[in-house]
Amino acid sequence: MFNIILFGPPGSGKGTQATSIEEKYDLHHISTGDLFRHELKNNTDIGKKIQKYLDSGQLVPDEITILMLKNKILSYSNPNGFLLDGFPRNIAQAEALLELFKSLKSDVHLLVSLDVPEEEIVARILNRGKTSGRTDDNDESVIRGRYKVYEEVTDPVFDYFHSMNKASKVNGIGTIDEIFGRVVEVIDKHVGKE
Ligand code: AMP
Repeated sequence: MFNIILFGPPGSGKGTQATSIEEKYDLHHISTGDLFRHELKNNTDIGKKIQKYLDSGQLVPDEITILMLKNKILSYSNPNGFLLDGFPRNIAQAEALLELFKSLKSDVHLLVSLDVPEEEIVARILNRGKTSGRTDDNDESVIRGRYKVYEEVTDPVFDYFHSMNKASKVNGIGTIDEIFGRVVEVIDKHVGKE
């Protein structure tokens, strides 16, 4: 198994890049945000519990998020690998992920972070909000709040993997193809090292 974390603030282009990366490396793309939105849409028990967190841009509690992610990963038989998007978002989730992959005799191989400054993030998400139908994409104060959560709680996850020599930053400004090229370069360099 080859497992990659696609990292970066909300609106940094993770979902857009994930489509091309999962295809090129034959990985299963798992976005915890998409999984949560699916629960909301279907008005499930989880959906009812998480609505307030998604609406306000706060993190869903770990016990819900980690269990959902674990169940999703374990639902695949013989996977080639995973591309995680939006997870882990704090150190406890990172530790749980490493433990899960260890139990599957695998590991997190690489974290690729898309680097995009706050002002560009706010502009991009407000623009996405015109068509995404996401309530959390329409309110500038919620968007800035999501960025703040990223800086305070999520960003330390980069250092956590960097200290294991498993994290790289990529410039997230440019065309979709340019950024994809940078991501591929980082992944291929890392694969060569393994
Ligand atoms: P995203 O689509 O990744 O921007 O996620 C949308 C929202 O889903 C976030 O603002 C959180 O409320 C929730 N969410 C997604 N992933 C996680 C996670 N790993 N931990 C906690 N909450 C999450």
